[in-house]
Amino acid sequence: MLRRVNSWHYFRAMAKQDDKLKKVISHAKEYGFVFPSSEIYDGLSAAYDYGQLGVELKNNIKSYWWDSMVKMHENIVGLDASIFMHPTTWKASGHVDAFNDPLIDNKDSKKRYRADVLIEDFVEKIRMKIQKDVDKAAKRFGDAFDEAEFVSTNGNVVRRQKQIDEILARFKKAMDDEDLADVKKLIEDLEIADPDTGSRNWTDVRQFNLMFKTELGAVSGDAGIIYLRPETAQGIFVNYLNVQKSGRMKLPFGIAQIGKAFRNEIIARQFIFRMREFEQMEMQFFIKPGTQGEWYDYWKNQRIKWHKALGMGEDNYRFHDHIKLAHYADAASDVEFNFPMGFRELEGIHSRTDFDLVSHEEHSGKKLRYFDPETNDSYVPYVVETSIGLDRMFLAVMSSAYTEETLEDGSERILMNIHPALAPVKAAVLPLMKKDGLPEKAREIIDNLKTDFNVFYEEKDAIGRRYRRQDAIGTPFCITVDHQTLEDQTVTIRHRDSMEQDRVAIADVHQIISEKVSLRNLLLAAQ
Ligand code: ATP
Repeated sequence: MLRRVNSWHYFRAMAKQDDKLKKVISHAKEYGFVFPSSEIYDGLSAAYDYGQLGVELKNNIKSYWWDSMVKMHENIVGLDASIFMHPTTWKASGHVDAFNDPLIDNKDSKKRYRADVLIEDFVEKIRMKIQKDVDKAAKRFGDAFDEAEFVSTNGNVVRRQKQIDEILARFKKAMDDEDLADVKKLIEDLEIADPDTGSRNWTDVRQFNLMFKTELGAVSGDAGIIYLRPETAQGIFVNYLNVQKSGRMKLPFGIAQIGKAFRNEIIARQFIFRMREFEQMEMQFFIKPGTQGEWYDYWKNQRIKWHKALGMGEDNYRFHDHIKLAHYADAASDVEFNFPMGFRELEGIHSRTDFDLVSHEEHSGKKLRYFDPETNDSYVPYVVETSIGLDRMFLAVMSSAYTEETLEDGSERILMNIHPALAPVKAAVLPLMKKDGLPEKAREIIDNLKTDFNVFYEEKDAIGRRYRRQDAIGTPFCITVDHQTLEDQTVTIRHRDSMEQDRVAIADVHQIISEKVSLRNLLLAAQ
């Protein structure tokens, strides 16, 4: 994709990122992680299918999240609410009136964009220029470099930062005032062009509701209209009292849910980063009003630990605290991850106040209160929510794991160094030859492992090629059965990342795999 930008460095950086994303996409398809949906009909934009390895990785991510919430916290319980909900739910939640994106069309290219994204991309380019100046200065001054001082005193940086602040402030004001004409004017004033064609021939900006509508079977007309849920959270809110009463839950307590959500995104691109059908892992934590600040900090801290325990690089995460808050929030922050296309939102942590429960009380006429036995009064709880996209998490894992390596002998391998607890296949059992009883012995080993681990059997091709295929799907261990195995009940076990091989007793294999791939260590590290 050719972008009309005047910074060569920016272009080069973008090209490199696009390149990595393309590689991840094609690798995901080649090895059965992710396929375009209904591909034989040329696919459907922004819909994807998870293949034989993708579904395993996805399930492992879900388990890591679910266990970290539900198993590791005695005051968090699970829920599986339906996708279809009473339509008033979405009136109460504000989605019917406010779940909009500002949309703008380019009259020449006929392409549609989110006005806010065009502006944010423009700001990001300025940020990259600042970062370049910071990096250059850091190199020049070495250990003596004081970044805080540099960014507050360097003329270029200060000027650029001022420009960013002005753009964002004007954009925020225009959105708050619902002044879409000024959003268009801002795009024109900044001379933002269609990223694909360079055209600046824009339509007016208008609001576009992202909810998918459908009709209930027996009811016709407006009365029958229902929505595909655009977030899983509302299924939790409407069940707050059911769970609280039936589970005899005391504040603070949480309800966790994993499920599909649907949004008619204006631009759905960047593979599984932005889809129209996707999965969310959300947890609503119900708390006493007034304690939201402390719980908001607690969950920000918990969630970043959960991410960092995966070893995908401390520097690849940052928090982005929101200036423009959603209609329901009194504080909000994103965990951003360094995806191949740059830092982007991976998870949101929102202090949602009592907005949703109060609104559901009003719309349903039912009380959604908590009787506090300590203070003898009843009130509507406040909520802090953590909300992560499973598909985005999948992309974060895939893109950070994808590594091209040149080995000492000059050969190359593609390695998916996925955390062993998340790896789709835990071990491959490989008889060195297809004869002399080696396959039978390998099957015996598999029988002893398969109740606990996802294991893979392969006897075709030279052993080196078989190792490469396992590296490319992220299998932490390859267990090779050879003639010596038949004599002394030992195998070689090859470690994916180091490629080192040890000779070990078959009797020890289960334990060796277990130590490395069990969720237990990961959950403990994330605490
Ligand atoms: P964005 O600003 O990227 O549209 P959002 O702020 O609207 O995201 P939330 O409503 O906070 O997202 O949803 C919580 C999480 O759900 C996000 O952090 C993201 O991981 C995931 N998510 C949201 N929209 C999509 C989508 N279209 N495709 C995949 N994941 C999504």
